[in-house]
Amino acid sequence: MWKGEYGFAEIADIGYRRASRMKTIAVLTSGGDAPGMNAAIRAVVRTAGYHQLNVLGVMRGFHGLIHDEFIELNPRSVADIIHRGGTILKSARSQEFTTPEGQAKAVENLRRAGVEGLVVIGGDGSFRGALRLQGDGISVIGIPATIDNDIPCTDFSIGFDTTVNTVIEVINKIRDTATSHERIYVVEVMGRHSGHIALYAGLAGGAETILIPEVDFSLDDVCERLVSGYELGKAHSIVLVAEGVGGNLKAGRSLNESSAFHVANYVMEKTGFETRVTVLGHIQRGGNPTANDRILASRLGARAVEMLMEGRSGYMVGIINNEIKATPLEEVFQQEKSMDLEFHRLAHILASQ
Ligand code: ATP
Repeated sequence: MWKGEYGFAEIADIGYRRASRMKTIAVLTSGGDAPGMNAAIRAVVRTAGYHQLNVLGVMRGFHGLIHDEFIELNPRSVADIIHRGGTILKSARSQEFTTPEGQAKAVENLRRAGVEGLVVIGGDGSFRGALRLQGDGISVIGIPATIDNDIPCTDFSIGFDTTVNTVIEVINKIRDTATSHERIYVVEVMGRHSGHIALYAGLAGGAETILIPEVDFSLDDVCERLVSGYELGKAHSIVLVAEGVGGNLKAGRSLNESSAFHVANYVMEKTGFETRVTVLGHIQRGGNPTANDRILASRLGARAVEMLMEGRSGYMVGIINNEIKATPLEEVFQQEKSMDLEFHRLAHILASQ
């Protein structure tokens, strides 16, 4: 048996390496960036390299496909990126790609580059785009990556766990100052139309109240809870608000006012408590991916390449009950992302005493 450069027998090569008709695949990142995208790119490139496939990286998502921005990637090009947030391939949104002409250009460029399989790392918009490229010798597989965790048919998408941890860190810090001044802090987090970030971070961070679009609420109830918390001797309260709750708020909200400011003003007027607002913004997109996100990205990246090698196309690889499962993209588009409302109930119970 041949001994590798480190003296270990190269046992990994026996039985694991697969033969494939495919010679060249490409990978791109699209939509909003999410921590862990780099770990997914690394997994795609190294899995492909292991199975002796060539890999091209496409810069700037679909924009780069149309403008022929291909770069060669090899196992060394993805060294030292597993721990970095953002995406080395950059991300972009492309209006041009949504037109038939744009899509035809993209297909032409993929063909010219000899690409037979494309891995698209992004959100559901990116997957809709990917499906337009499928056919006539081009296979596509999607990997869910968005901090919002709003993609159905996967329990988690890459980036979500890191963002939740970022929010928790901020809540910890706010808690210190909130306790010292006995104030109420209203913290607004991202998530677009979905409340996953607020729910998970609220439960893990011990927020007194969590306001998410998926659960109806009344601001009067929120005030009542804050008053009873005060009567129980709570030194401070944290109200976590998902940015998407706007629709649930009562009329009278100024268009320029974020959800958090509206909640804070209401609470202040109704209860007289001193209230402060923190709107977290883009800090939530950055940072080193957590172990969970790196592991998820590694598993999904590897599986995406294997699926292309198996001749499969038009799927999203996701994680369900800790198992990697592939779902046809058409089905992903039809499903609604579910939310475990038991988490909301639990957070409510734990924070109300
Ligand atoms: P995020 O959840 O972070 O926003 P996303 O992948 O949903 O990620 P989008 O901006 O919706 O982000 O989509 C990314 C790109 O995919 C768009 O700029 C566009 O080029 C392409 N795209 C989106 N929807 C479609 C569609 N229906 N048909 C073709 N292309 C699309």
